[in-house]
Amino acid sequence: MSTPPFDPPSEAEIAVVSRQIGRPARNVIGIAARCVCGAPTVVATDPRLDDGTPFPTLYYLTHPAATAAISTLEATGAMPKFAGLLDDESMAAAYLAAHRAYLADRESIEHVTEIEGISAGGMPQRVKCLHALAAHSLAAGPGVNPIGDLALEWADWSPSVCQCDDPETSNSAESSAG
Ligand SMILES: [Zn+2]
Repeated sequence: MSTPPFDPPSEAEIAVVSRQIGRPARNVIGIAARCVCGAPTVVATDPRLDDGTPFPTLYYLTHPAATAAISTLEATGAMPKFAGLLDDESMAAAYLAAHRAYLADRESIEHVTEIEGISAGGMPQRVKCLHALAAHSLAAGPGVNPIGDLALEWADWSPSVCQCDDPETSNSAESSAG
């Protein structure tokens, strides 16, 4: 897991991410979390894309098995359950703190006025995208985003158990890049 500043991703890593998401990965400024095998699971994206578009989603879940597991979680009604937890005052406070931590990470890279105060996943008051919240938890580590932590706990996927299609390729991508 890592939060800014990030080491610049290698071309090989960008190639792996592009394969994961099925399109060219653009404006990736770092690998924010990895599978136990070393393959990227979460990328960090520049808050302002090359074409000038503001991009609030700093942490993006790219790993196919992870995104599938989180999609299953969303489809089986986890979001209203998690949203209900925010009725609890301490949970709501922790979620607000997660929102602020997310913004602080992004601000440390670049201030983009158009997305000021806008984080991701529905924070700080709603639960709209578990992929974004889980990505935040994977990047920041446990204890920062309570809903993201729960999503990872409930999901049938873990970064400590490699479910990469081809971990060999992910690991030795240096040789196949370009
Ligand atoms: Zn793996």
